[in-house]
Amino acid sequence: MFCASCGNQIPDGSANCPFCGAQQAPAQPTYQQPVYQQPTYQQPPAYQQAKIPGRGFGIAGMVCGIIGLILSFFCMIGVGAIMSTYGRYLDTSGLFGEVFAYAILSILALVFGVAARNKGYRTGVAMAGIVLGVIGLALSLISVFMLIV
Ligand SMILES: [Zn+2]
Repeated sequence: MFCASCGNQIPDGSANCPFCGAQQAPAQPTYQQPVYQQPTYQQPPAYQQAKIPGRGFGIAGMVCGIIGLILSFFCMIGVGAIMSTYGRYLDTSGLFGEVFAYAILSILALVFGVAARNKGYRTGVAMAGIVLGVIGLALSLISVFMLIV
């Protein structure tokens, strides 16, 4: 340690400095870092459920299918509102993007649903993804047909 007054090196724990005689602060008690006991983390049941093979795919498929359906639904409402106002749909170019997004979501729903079933996750959730995917793809094709013709 070093003297607080004159700065000379003095033996650790000295009460007084041998050079200048200044009283030294009592040795700091070494602070014991409390050992943090990591609580044994009980994994919630939901996490264990996520390990069911194919469950993630099944849910992803259903979510894609539902989002696609909602997207398609709002698009139909929008088109219907414009057509009822103007008697026809003015600009169909913007609809291709929506139909394309719906088709992509439907394909994803189908792929995820099939993947879930292939992994043994044969539940209504996986089936919902497949069904929504097939419906979505069919509606997308019909929409493209109607937009082109
Ligand atoms: Zn000193």
